[in-house]
Amino acid sequence: MNCILLGPPGAGKGTQAKNIVKSFNMLHFSTGDMLRKAKKFDEIINKLLLTGQLVPDKVVIDIIKRRLERDDIKKGFLLDGFPRNLRQAEQLDLMLKSKNVRINKVFLIDIGFEEVINRIAGRRVCECGASYNIIAVPPKKNGICDCCGANLVQRNDDREESVVRDRFAIYKRQTEPLIEYYNKTGLLVEIDGLKDEKAVFKQISMYIL
Ligand code: AMP
Repeated sequence: MNCILLGPPGAGKGTQAKNIVKSFNMLHFSTGDMLRKAKKFDEIINKLLLTGQLVPDKVVIDIIKRRLERDDIKKGFLLDGFPRNLRQAEQLDLMLKSKNVRINKVFLIDIGFEEVINRIAGRRVCECGASYNIIAVPPKKNGICDCCGANLVQRNDDREESVVRDRFAIYKRQTEPLIEYYNKTGLLVEIDGLKDEKAVFKQISMYIL
């Protein structure tokens, strides 16, 4: 099964992606995670990430194209953070068509602007990939990762409220048109992102075979 996760920043895409790939033994392709690794080597990417701007389509399309070349995708994959605009979605369709691979479901995890601001202010992450919220999902020990014991940090692009606002505005302008795009294909499943982590996962699981 191959799926896409859509939703505004802070909707819980990363958290649910981890739950999904673990439970259903799928591959997790997060362009955000891939770019956060690449930013150490590329000053331009670093700047775009820091200010919440999208990196150029060609960069992410090439990353995904290269990843989809590998044979292991037969196992099934989950795209998290890609596509992020219509051009990326169209390019993805072409890539998949040439490989005779299909997307089976597109999950939209939806939350509103107020909730985005609240959740992102409380988000803390660990280098190991674990993610917390100091109010809703706090670690057992303040500031320390439950999984590996490392110090938790705030993502650079979560720190400034103005950057979070920009990311939300970019989502509205560039990514939201994908809802209509995938709705037309009959693949879209709308998930209430305001529910807690377990309840959101339960809603998604019902659609994964
Ligand atoms: P995320 O972890 O999905 O919130 O992504 C973090 C940042 O990575 C975004 O704010 C963008 O700067 C960049 N990014 C991730 N995915 C994409 C994409 N598909 N297209 C362009 N930029 C992206």
